[in-house]
Amino acid sequence: MIYQRSSQLFAEAEKVIPGGVNSPVRAFKAVGGTPIFVKSAKGAYLYDEDGNRLIDYINSWGPMILGHAYEPVVEAVIEKAKLGTSFGMPTELETQIAALAVSMVPNIDKIRFVNSGTEACMSAVRLARGFTKRDKIIKFAGCYHGHSDSFLIQAGSGAVTFGTPNSPGVTAGTAKDTLLAKYNDLENVKTLIEANKNEIAAIIVEPVAGNMGCIPPVKGFLEGLRELCTANGILLIFDEVMTGFRLARGGVQELFNIDADIVCFGKVIGGGLPVGAFAARAEIMNFLAPLGPVYQAGTLSGNPLAMAAGLAMLQALDNDREIFKRLEEKTAYLSAGIEKVLKANNVVFTINQIGSMISVHFDANPVTDFQSAAAGDNETFKKFFHGLVAEGVYIAPSAYETWFITDALTYEDLDFTIQAIDKVSKTF
Ligand SMILES: *Cc1c(COP(=O)(O)O)cnc(C)c1O
Repeated sequence: MIYQRSSQLFAEAEKVIPGGVNSPVRAFKAVGGTPIFVKSAKGAYLYDEDGNRLIDYINSWGPMILGHAYEPVVEAVIEKAKLGTSFGMPTELETQIAALAVSMVPNIDKIRFVNSGTEACMSAVRLARGFTKRDKIIKFAGCYHGHSDSFLIQAGSGAVTFGTPNSPGVTAGTAKDTLLAKYNDLENVKTLIEANKNEIAAIIVEPVAGNMGCIPPVKGFLEGLRELCTANGILLIFDEVMTGFRLARGGVQELFNIDADIVCFGKVIGGGLPVGAFAARAEIMNFLAPLGPVYQAGTLSGNPLAMAAGLAMLQALDNDREIFKRLEEKTAYLSAGIEKVLKANNVVFTINQIGSMISVHFDANPVTDFQSAAAGDNETFKKFFHGLVAEGVYIAPSAYETWFITDALTYEDLDFTIQAIDKVSKTF
């Protein structure tokens, strides 16, 4: 494959955009080389500026669960755009998507829309602090909740890839209110709660972690967090920005039948436009301005184009009762295929998979938390990544990322991918 035009475009971008990218995870720092510039995408495929076709396993980092340029979403956006793109006044559409989201997700009465997952998590924590009148939060190493100050303490994903786990620019005052726990380790959480009695407002968690590869919770972990929160007057925040409307209609709350106090959304809920949201029982949501004392706002929040895209996406998911089962089956098929060829080629690996999320780790040990995720062999990953790109398969350019399976992928695409992995892993 030739990447002449992508390289040129990157060189031009670097002059006027820091690192040439508007989000660090798009850079190829962890794998070497220069980013591929996209021209268009349709269904399961990306088409780059050099005319190459790539089977896409990132899917905009999650949102495109039904594939790129999904007709009903595209149509909805075009039709809305003709009627005006922003008003800063209420529209009926906002109530329609809110009502649908509330009907799909268990245990929430009200939802507020924002413009990104970052905003959703930041606002959820502010709400939890206002509601409990406490300052501290617990987060887990390797979990990513967006780039707002309180979360940039051992955040996963990009923050780890780029070697800035405790980000300069975050004040010591902010950092001291974020307590760091180990994912899948309840005892660790108990100890932190004991040491900070009546000071903790919220525990925020990716109920299935997806920003250090895909790491499902061990049995009892989420149940234990729920019990600890209830017993100690702490609000449990499920950050379902990645898992919401992906692992089940009602997200992880439904999948494992556990109630969170506040739930954050992003990615799929916006159908590929910039949308985030947070939701809770009325008692908690009524603490928000204009009803309550906790301030939260946004000029473009509930933007008609974004809401049209999100509504079309949620309707498609709501109307297709087989969708999550179908995605799971495709992902399990891919997982089994990858396992077979890696074994046959004597590669040391671990595969984690749940629903339509999957990650391949080049390490023999189980990957259950940040430490075990970090133990993977990055040199092998680099070869894997570049080998796959050369074969026409695109995965995230970092070993800390989950692959997202879309409904647009056919079994032929999955077989093609498995064959590509077979070929590439012979060269390790
Ligand atoms: C992507 C992500 C975020 C941040 O969302 P943005 O829209 O990128 O701000 C927050 N939490 C989780 C779990 C995510 O995967």
